[in-house]
Amino acid sequence: MGLFGKTEAERVRVAGLDLRCEICKHDRFWQREAQLNTAVATFFNFDWANATATCFVCDGCGHIHWFLPRR
Ligand SMILES: [Zn+2]
Repeated sequence: MGLFGKTEAERVRVAGLDLRCEICKHDRFWQREAQLNTAVATFFNFDWANATATCFVCDGCGHIHWFLPRR
């Protein structure tokens, strides 16, 4: 049982490119969804609340890469 229910960290593609950890350059990640609360949404000046961001947690060092929804 993996950290987020999967058995293995996976490669991730973002905007057509393979995602690499900006800290340790690892290329395997655990994916999870994160609910953005209103305070966070306000901080980033979003015009909507309670959006869901996609998080990729580096399997090598644990660094979290956040991706906000685009629309
Ligand atoms: Zn890393």
